[in-house]
Amino acid sequence: MTDYICPECGEPSEGGLHLDGTPLCPVMGAGGYQAAQPVAVNSLEGQQVRGDLLDAFGADAALDVLRAGASEQNALDEVLGSAPAFGLDRDEIAPIVDGAFRRRLDGYGRRNGR
Ligand SMILES: [Zn+2]
Repeated sequence: MTDYICPECGEPSEGGLHLDGTPLCPVMGAGGYQAAQPVAVNSLEGQQVRGDLLDAFGADAALDVLRAGASEQNALDEVLGSAPAFGLDRDEIAPIVDGAFRRRLDGYGRRNGR
């Protein structure tokens, strides 16, 4: 069985809907906004969407540290805790999210001289 995801938010999709039954995120089409078409998770686009999602997880964790003063461990635990909601395996994505997290910390944070 092929797994499908929403190309906009990366959540798993079943029967052309998000798992909670709401339509997939809107995208701009020829006739205005319409629900996105699900993409196979193992397709090129699906892999890209997943990659972007993990990158966003890392960015969220970095912002938590930089803005809210969370500890690095807590911030990572928090975003990794949402992995199952996206049909992701926490252990599998942890190193990727961690990489994105470190890049963001370097990019945003260390400007103010830590
Ligand atoms: Zn969506």
